[in-house]
Parts: sequence; C-alpha cells; structure tokens
Amino acid sequence: MAQITLQGVDKVYSGGVKAVDGLDLEIRDGEFMVLVGPSGCGKSTALRMIAGLEDISDGTVSIGDRVVNDLAPKDRDIAMVFQNYALYPHMTVEQNLAFGLKLRGTPKSEIKERVANAAAMLGLEPFLQRRPAHLSGGQRQRVAMGRAIVREPQAFLMDEPLSNLDAKLRVSMRASLNQLHERLGITTVYVTHDQIEAMTLGDRVCVLREGRLQQVDTPQRLFDHP
Ligand code: ADP
Ligand code: ADP
Repeated sequence: MAQITLQGVDKVYSGGVKAVDGLDLEIRDGEFMVLVGPSGCGKSTALRMIAGLEDISDGTVSIGDRVVNDLAPKDRDIAMVFQNYALYPHMTVEQNLAFGLKLRGTPKSEIKERVANAAAMLGLEPFLQRRPAHLSGGQRQRVAMGRAIVREPQAFLMDEPLSNLDAKLRVSMRASLNQLHERLGITTVYVTHDQIEAMTLGDRVCVLREGRLQQVDTPQRLFDHP
C-alpha cells in the first residue's frame, strides 16, 4: 500500500483543452478517496494520469516515495477497474481471475490461494466455472474487481465502476466495496459523477470543477458545509 501524491498536475490535451489545472492532492496510505464532479471536470483524466494511461503535461505524480511520471502502467503496481468489465469471454471466471498471475509466473499454489480468497470475498464461489456470458452485470463487475484484488497491488484505481449497473445493484455493490476496503485497506482512488456514491464510499471526497480542486474533505464535513 502507498500514498499517492499529485503536485501541481496539469493536463492539456492536444486540442488545447486544459482538462486538469494545477491539481495538488494527497491520497493517504490506505485511504478511499473519491473524485467527484460533473461530466467533463477532469476526473477521468486525473485518474488516468495516476494510472499512467495519459501523459502528464506538468507537475508530478508519486506513488509511495517514487515519482512515477515516466513509469509505464505495468510498473506502477496499481490495478484498475473500469465500467466496462473487459473480461476474457472464452475463459471461465476462475481462469479470468488467474490469468494475470499466470502471465507473471506466480506459482500455481499461490494463484490458487489468491483466487480462492478473492472469490470468497466477492461471493464468486458459485460461479467459478461459468463464462462471462452466463453472468449478470453485477457478477461480471465482481469478477473485474476480483482480477484487481488478486494482483495485490499498492493501489486500486476505479473509474465509474458501477455506472453500468441498475440502481438496486449499485446499492449492493457499494456495500461490497465498503466491506472490501475495510478488509483490504488498499489505497483507492474512485471516480464517479454520483454524489451519493461519493458520500457513501469515500473516507474523503475531492470535488473537481473545470479541472481544478474545489474542495477536499470528509463526506460529513462536505455535507455540513457544502
Ligand atoms: P470527467 O471524467 O470528469 O467527465 P474528463 O477527464 O473525461 O472529465 O474530461 C475533461 C475534459 O477533457 C473535457 O473537456 C473533455 O472533453 C476533455 N478530454 C477528455 N479526453 C480528451 C482527449 N482524449 N482529447 C481531448 N480532450 C479530451
Ligand atoms: P490481467 O492482469 O488483467 O489479467 P494482463 O496480465 O494480460 O491482464 O495485463 C497486461 C498488462 O496490462 C499488465 O502488465 C498491466 O500493466 C495491465 N493491466 C491489466 N490489468 C490491469 C489492471 N486491472 N490494472 C492495471 N493495469 C492492468
């Protein structure tokens, strides 16, 4: 686990749009930080710069005590969960969970243990032999989260992971996410445009507007002093 620090981070896209403007933000070790704000405020861009999926125009992003500006995504020791699940359709749930570890040459016994733990935490045990086509949207999103968990990364980055789910599922997934965070305590950066999601999930919430940090505080204090 690690702290994530953004210092004076700018993102100017090639068309000239300044998507992120002088962002200073410290995400503490083990903290669940939500980035919230209206569509186009720069949430995804900020997250993608932490992930290494987008070049940083100015400033620095650090994970732990390492500046990662020039590090490839695979060298940042982070795991991402997106709204589209990106599961391998021809593999079972179990194979989907194990695949990344297999590629990395993780010993078989350890893969087995990590996959079993993730499946237990996410309630996926009954579905391990199914293929994604035979899962509900919520189950697929759990598999996507399972794939992130088995990597045992320093941090989770999630971009609107619940936005393809119906309202009822979103509520139950919020509860699952809270439980997971309590158990694993992994530094998490979570992007959403949904204020309720932000308030129920975040240890702290960072409100962005037009690429700038507007407020960062606990949900309680944001609620008391909007
Ligand atoms: P959010 O996640 O809050 O909806 P984004 O980070 O996606 O916001 O976008 C912030 C701004 O950057 C918007 O004005 C958007 O149109 C612009 N933008 C996002 N991606 C690109 C891109 N690849 N090229 C040019 N402009 C982009
Ligand atoms: P997965 O780990 O999702 O089964 P791979 O091991 O084939 O998939 O991933 C190839 C590369 O893509 C990894 O080295 C990593 O850099 C990146 N990658 C894959 N999944 C994630 C993820 N959940 N979070 C961040 N990076 C990922």
